[in-house]
Amino acid sequence: ALMITDDCINCDVCEPECPNEAISLGPEIYVIDPNKCTECVGHFDEPQCQQVCPVACIPLHPDWRESREQLMAKYERLTLAK
Ligand code: SF4
Ligand code: SF4
Repeated sequence: ALMITDDCINCDVCEPECPNEAISLGPEIYVIDPNKCTECVGHFDEPQCQQVCPVACIPLHPDWRESREQLMAKYERLTLAK
């Protein structure tokens, strides 16, 4: 999963780009729900939020390192839940 750092300027361009609805406005800045972020695996070749963020504040979450297989399994779980 990816995460949003406190460099976020609350511009709101990433939120509508997320295919998993993993991004929302938190108490101060935008946040990513790591249980919903597949790093865009299953939807796109590149993380869409990283592509659009004007201040490049969306790195990999250090505590959520997942393999492509794990990310694909998460994608399938999220898709089935819909
Ligand atoms: Fe959403 Fe993709 Fe960004 Fe994860 S990497 S928060 S799934 S847009
Ligand atoms: Fe924050 Fe970047 Fe998302 Fe804008 S695109 S709300 S700066 S994380």
